[in-house]
Formats: sequence, C-alpha cells, structure tokens
Amino acid sequence: RRAAALAMAGEEGRTSDGTRIEVFANLGKLGDAAPAVANGAEGCGLLRTEFLFLDRQSAPDEDEQAAQYGAIADALEGRPLIIRLLDIGGDKPAPYLPIAPEENPAMGLRGLRVGLARPDVLSTQLRAILRASVGRKVKIMAPMVARVEELRALQAVAQAEAEALGVALPDLGVMVETPAAAVMADALAAECAFLSIGTNDLTQYTLAMDRGNPAVAAGLDGLDPAVLRLIAQTCRGGAAQGKWVGVCGGLASDPLAVPILIGLGVRELSAAPAMVAEIKALVRSLNLADCEALGAQVLQAASAGDVRRLAAAFIGGQA
Ligand code: PEP
Ligand code: MG
Repeated sequence: RRAAALAMAGEEGRTSDGTRIEVFANLGKLGDAAPAVANGAEGCGLLRTEFLFLDRQSAPDEDEQAAQYGAIADALEGRPLIIRLLDIGGDKPAPYLPIAPEENPAMGLRGLRVGLARPDVLSTQLRAILRASVGRKVKIMAPMVARVEELRALQAVAQAEAEALGVALPDLGVMVETPAAAVMADALAAECAFLSIGTNDLTQYTLAMDRGNPAVAAGLDGLDPAVLRLIAQTCRGGAAQGKWVGVCGGLASDPLAVPILIGLGVRELSAAPAMVAEIKALVRSLNLADCEALGAQVLQAASAGDVRRLAAAFIGGQA
C-alpha cells in the first residue's frame, strides 16, 4: 500500500470528484524538506521555527534566521512555505528569553503572546521572514491567538517592518488552537488571509486536558465531537469570509480524521512528512459529497469512540 501511495506522490491532492485539497508537510528543520517533497508534499503548512531557538544560549540573529528560512523555501523548490512565528513559552523554555515560572504555562506567556511581550524578538523574526519572502512563496502564521486584538497588534508590527524594508507583506494567517479562536473564526478570518487549525492544542484546551500531563494525555482524542464542532465552526467562519481553512495539527496525519476534516470544509492538510504519501492517496480516493455526509453524521456523535467507529466504517466501506 505504501508503494502504491508513493507511486502517486507526484499527483495533486484532489478528491475523486475534483475538489482541490492541498497536502502539505509539517517541517521542523531544513533537513526535513527534501524527504517531505520526495513523499509528495505540495508545500509546508507549518514550519515550527522553534528549532532555531531552542537548545542554544543566545537567540538566532536576523541574518541567520533569514538564511534558514530562505534555504528551507528553496529546498521546497518553489512550493509554498508557511512559516509559523516563534511558539515558545513556559513549556518550551529558552535561556535567553526568561519567562517567570508559571503555575499554568499552557495558559501563560506562549506563542504570539511572547512575541507581543518581546517586540524585539518578534520584529527580528518578522524582518528575517520578510527578507526571505522576496521572490519566494512564503506565508506567515501566528500561533496561540485567542483574540482579534492580538492579530491586529501583530499586523501593525508586520506592516511597519514591511514598509521599513520596502517589501510586500506576505499573506498572514492565524492558527486556530484555542476555543476562543474557533468560536471567533469569522471575525479573525475577516482580518487575515487564512486559518490553520492546530488540533493538538485545540484538543487540550477544549477538553481541559494537558497534552504534557501523562495522567491525562493518553485520553486526548482530536476526534472528540466537542473538537469537531469547533472545527466545523472554524470552517464556517473561514468560508463566510472567503478564506481557506487548513489543519496542521496531528489530525491531518490521522487517516480516520481525513474524510471528516474534508467533509467539514478543510481544504489544506499539513501532515507529518512520513504520512504525506498515504494521506494524499487517501484524499484521492475520497468523494466530497460522501465526506460531507460523514461530517454531518459525526457532529451528532456523542463520543470520540463513536466518531472513530463511524469513520472506520466509512473508510472500510470505500475500500
Ligand atoms: C497544534 O497545536 O496542533 C500545532 C500544530 O502546534 P504544536 O503541536 O507545535 O503546538
Ligand atoms: Mg500548537
């Protein structure tokens, strides 16, 4: 099956009835890009830029960041690269970015909140991305957004840096990984270029179960109907504003989730590089109307177990 999937790696992500579904890869460093492309990635839907910042004594400067982002875009050979702004915080500490100990790091200074609290770090990264974006297909994505004000604050900084450099501001999107962002997706989508759902964090915040706490993490399932209803709401919010919605969390790599996500309106899936070929082959076997019927059905399910049984029966029935 894997050989058959790899044989199709060069094809476009598209359902059997022709709906375009971009199949991208999540990358964590330069070396991930070439294998992802070999697996059929049509771009990168999430570059976790933390890789440049962690395990070192000082922050990477603007030149180092610009060179890395440019090299990764070049390794994608013209395919789009979505660069996520630094997603660091109490749970992923860096020695040169001191954050006071927090009782609740998941609800503390994290993601975009760190950037807004440390404008020097945010501006340096934005300038590096803007420089790397010239002549390349680069987009910017903000992690851990909960409120429209945070998006506006980011846009003001990004706009100012772009003007100062004399370069066009690339598309700027928002990660939907808090319940607030999902509920307010229409308002966020009205003011940004795209939404990308981070199902790992969205699941932990929706279920109030810490993804890093071994006592509860094993019980986390992104196919919980509570999460799926928020994903559906996010897709409606994006569609109402004519903006595309993707998924870059773990659900995009889960074959049982793929028909559901497509049925709910997701049009870009950014998966783990090793899963890209299989996910694309699966997408190409699916029919949009059938996925939409499944999507409507799982929104009425009572538990993640019920959702998984419905999805397994759907995929089994297709084979
Ligand atoms: C997510 O939360 O789903 C996500 C993609 O971000 P990370 O896993 O890096 O927190
Ligand atoms: Mg996240």
